[in-house]
Amino acid sequence: MSKPRKVHVKSFGCQMNVYDSHRMADTLAPGGFAETAEPGEADLVILNTCHIREKAVEKVYSEIGRIRVMKEAAAREGRRMLIAVAGCVAQAEGEEIVRRAGVVDLVVGSQNYHRLPGLLARAQAGEKVVDTEFPVEDKFAALAAPARDATAKRGVASFVTVQEGCDKFCTFCVVPYTRGAEVSRPVQQIVAEVEHLAVAGVREITLIGQNVNAFHGAGPDGEAWTLGRLLRRLAQVPGILRLRYTTSHPRDMGDDLIAAHAELPALMPYVHLPVQSGSDRILAAMNRKHTCTDYLAVITRLRAARADLALSSDFIVGFPGETEADFRVTLNLVEEVGFAGAFSFMYSPRPGTPAADMEQVAPEEKAERLQRLQALITRGQRAFNAGFAGRTLDVLLEKPGKLPGQLVGRSPYLQAVQVTAPRSAIGSVQRVTVIEVGSNSLFGEIADAPQLAAVGA
Ligand code: SF4
Repeated sequence: MSKPRKVHVKSFGCQMNVYDSHRMADTLAPGGFAETAEPGEADLVILNTCHIREKAVEKVYSEIGRIRVMKEAAAREGRRMLIAVAGCVAQAEGEEIVRRAGVVDLVVGSQNYHRLPGLLARAQAGEKVVDTEFPVEDKFAALAAPARDATAKRGVASFVTVQEGCDKFCTFCVVPYTRGAEVSRPVQQIVAEVEHLAVAGVREITLIGQNVNAFHGAGPDGEAWTLGRLLRRLAQVPGILRLRYTTSHPRDMGDDLIAAHAELPALMPYVHLPVQSGSDRILAAMNRKHTCTDYLAVITRLRAARADLALSSDFIVGFPGETEADFRVTLNLVEEVGFAGAFSFMYSPRPGTPAADMEQVAPEEKAERLQRLQALITRGQRAFNAGFAGRTLDVLLEKPGKLPGQLVGRSPYLQAVQVTAPRSAIGSVQRVTVIEVGSNSLFGEIADAPQLAAVGA
């Protein structure tokens, strides 16, 4: 029997990368690889990279430098460590990575993880391997199912990728180039994965995709299913208590998906809906294919379906050509919608995207606007959370908290909630009364003690 080997996968960026990292580890498990949190003791270190943030490529090279030191230390101990670079930077940079960092053994693009065992065997034989072709075979069908114990280790809330890639070509974004065209997984494949996760103890599923609400996977009836239809099917999977989805595009928020919010108690009343800017002029320059009025109309429809629906968004500040007047319209939009939270970033050019060649806004102007926007968003988030003081919420208890006897869970609106409860309550949904509102989480107490007793208190 071959000696067990260890793999360390470090994820950068979004949930799609976290999900991909889990699936890479699952794919390597049948070959005798066990996951380790310590890169220094690994036989294989995979850097699962992200291309979205500023200086992404440079950050990858500096991380490779850090791992190189560990590789050299392992060699001194007579161990061989292989280094692989995966994800969007691998896809974009390809051969350049092994040219610039000879210490890297394997470069694998974001569509080719299912080929990892074969690629690894070649790297082990001493070849420098680069595989960034977009394959013809179905990556998801070829990937191993999540290991049951690995799933249990990863908790009661899990991501499931249902869609990948994007055809929209926003002028600031690299996704259409690094993840390729929009592809949806077949419905039955997704249902099987969710059933498998439910059996392993997962209670909440977040469906993920770069354009998740553009989902159009083939159903068992031969028709292309919408995301709303898929959610209705997944709500029937025994053991699944909660469903979420992210990230959505305003243009793909169809009637069927909006209706699902009115129909499905398991579908949580929280939607992340990036708008990027409040100015129609900037939205057009971004090639977002929606106006501010379109965005507000979608929100009105969502709130008509589910009155308590909370929203979050993404904003880019200082996009090329953005004036103070454009920026003020964005601030107005934030006030008007009343977001529960939002991510905001200064625009920074991504090589190869159209906006990189447009006339840029001065860095100090961008920084000043970002500060103003973030102050407004934080105020809105605090006001949203403050509204929960004294209220009783359903909380899915997910894991132990920082203090002994404490568990951390999530409210329907994705707020972290700290509560005193026994470990046996992990995986259950409890009624929790909020007694204190902190800056990053809510603090509560179990409202229904007899129900908690039923889970082993
Ligand atoms: S819709 Fe999203 S993923 Fe697609 S190009 Fe625009 S920002 Fe990128």
